[in-house]
Amino acid sequence: MAVPKKKVSKARRDKRRSTNWKLDLPGMVKCKCGEYVLAHRVCKACGSYNGKEVINVKKEA
Ligand SMILES: [Zn+2]
Repeated sequence: MAVPKKKVSKARRDKRRSTNWKLDLPGMVKCKCGEYVLAHRVCKACGSYNGKEVINVKKEA
């Protein structure tokens, strides 16, 4: 419900904004190698998907 701006106190407004802030980007999951990757996509760092290595990633010397 829309409430007039001046009807909501600073404390109430800030309390509302302080909660439920997602730190992770949506759709981001942690790979087994520790890298954050987009869900349902092959990891760019280690080339694994669903716990298995599916593509070869060139190891940089
Ligand atoms: Zn990985």
